[in-house]
Amino acid sequence: MTHKRITLRNVRPWGADAADITVSDGIITEVAPAGGASEPGDLDGAGLLAVPGFINTHAHIDKSWWGKPWVPYTYSENPTVEGWIANERAERGNYDIPNTASATAVLREFLRHGTTATRTHIDVDLGIGLKGLESVQAAVAELDGAIHVETVAFPQDGVLRRPGVMRLLEEAAQAGVDSIGGLDPGTIDGDVGGQLEGLFQIAVDHGVGLDLHLHDFGSLGAYEYRQVIRRTLDAGLQGKVNISHGFAMGALQPEVRDEIIEGLAEAGISWTTVAMNGTAPLPWQQMRDRGVPLGLGTDGIRDLWSPFGDGDLLRVAFAFARLHGFRHDDKLVTAVEHATKHGAPFVGRELHDLVPGAPADVVLLDAENVPDALVRCPQRRLVLSAGRVVARDGEVLV
Ligand SMILES: [Zn+2]
Repeated sequence: MTHKRITLRNVRPWGADAADITVSDGIITEVAPAGGASEPGDLDGAGLLAVPGFINTHAHIDKSWWGKPWVPYTYSENPTVEGWIANERAERGNYDIPNTASATAVLREFLRHGTTATRTHIDVDLGIGLKGLESVQAAVAELDGAIHVETVAFPQDGVLRRPGVMRLLEEAAQAGVDSIGGLDPGTIDGDVGGQLEGLFQIAVDHGVGLDLHLHDFGSLGAYEYRQVIRRTLDAGLQGKVNISHGFAMGALQPEVRDEIIEGLAEAGISWTTVAMNGTAPLPWQQMRDRGVPLGLGTDGIRDLWSPFGDGDLLRVAFAFARLHGFRHDDKLVTAVEHATKHGAPFVGRELHDLVPGAPADVVLLDAENVPDALVRCPQRRLVLSAGRVVARDGEVLV
């Protein structure tokens, strides 16, 4: 965080008329029409488009081999979640996964593309214990506050079927993670109630959130949503529970979908999607109308699950727009809003926008307007994180 006052001059917030954005102690204090008198240390925005820093609400920065020689994907052409999990556990040691250097490299890619805050899941299992968490904490420290990181201790290999993992999750909660993860309690642990009961108990006992990967489809998926909703209400955890992926949602029968969305709204449960190619579009408008927070994420990038992903959340917003058939300007802007300001609650922020009171996380792009930026995904010309210049012309400066 910078402790001086600076002004970012001549930028177009969300494509509006040129403005000067003044920052003090890392917070935006004023957005005024451009043309104020320049002072030493001011930054010239050159009339570029300005949007808030991107918020990646679903990442796995501990899984990546970024920064290492290319790792060819050799696992099955017809993979299953269960098979990917086993493959990763069998192969990760060959690539020193997890490690601090790769986690740092991933966070630097996020910064290069204008992501200034992220929530990341971190594998916790019997093989590596809390090593992934330690790697991520070291990476965050290395970048000295340039990117805000929220952590989720994630039992990728299952919970109940691996005795000892529940204890590790408790240790992670004591070690300061923001949330505890979970994974397909029906198919992975074969005990929806059992896994959820244990996870919710840790959340209540340690005051952490829950962020649950739910890949299951159809009626099992709907049953798991209902269970999460009921337990969130029973535990009084409104506003602290998130469902990740939730692939079943887009294909539910309308009456079931309506009931689930009402339940999510009542229980204050949020939702994150990575807009995966080939998945059913989400009823995003209905979710938004009912106040269900919806965040976008990259998922894992360049790891043993897939070689794809470059950490650019604007490309995820592009994928979200394509998946949902967006063409009109207002919808294209909506996709960018979900990649920026609507991500605020996923990283513990009440406000994340180009307005006074918000963190001074600002991204400049050479684009005519927000829809133009979305469809072209041009280079990020300048990235400010808490008022500090962290990337310029595609070069990370931290
Ligand atoms: Zn994930």
